[in-house]
Amino acid sequence: MSVRRRTERTRYRRRTRIADVTTAFVGIGSNLGDPESQIGSALELLAAEDGIELLAVSTLRETEPVGYLDQPSFLNGAARLETELPARELLERLLAIEGRLGRVRGEGPRFGPRTIDLDLLVYGDETIDEPGLTVPHPRLAERRFALEPLAELDPDLEIRGLGPVQALLAELE
Ligand code: AMP
Repeated sequence: MSVRRRTERTRYRRRTRIADVTTAFVGIGSNLGDPESQIGSALELLAAEDGIELLAVSTLRETEPVGYLDQPSFLNGAARLETELPARELLERLLAIEGRLGRVRGEGPRFGPRTIDLDLLVYGDETIDEPGLTVPHPRLAERRFALEPLAELDPDLEIRGLGPVQALLAELE
């Protein structure tokens, strides 16, 4: 094969790949054990997954618990990634990473303490409402600790069904 033909082929392949890639945002939180190192481990596992490219991570911020108040403060942030995986498969990978880091679901109070929490906040411009998977994340609009890192990663982000991330933050003020 000539060099030129090989280049054309590579270009074609790249173009099809890009068409299949979705930008997604994942919320990350932890308030048990060593939150910073657990978040670091979760990000490493996420970056190592096939079909996921970790592009950016927000600042991690300490936030007060919401919902269930009698627990330590949280460390929260978000990650931007590109993925070839469908949303459902991406969520499965997030739940598997939580499990590998020792999170036991269904244990303790709802919104209670957790070693690691990974939420699929936004998946491209899709809205999904299926059993076990709602996108954008159902409590995103009311959670400053999720909106702030999103706005840091993409200040111009428009969230399908909810609106511009900046407007959502302004409404919380
Ligand atoms: P929790 O992490 O305790 O808030 O709850 C996670 C559960 O919510 C999982 O079992 C998921 O099936 C479900 N769920 C629904 N939509 C989402 C989403 N966008 N991100 C993460 N979990 C979701």
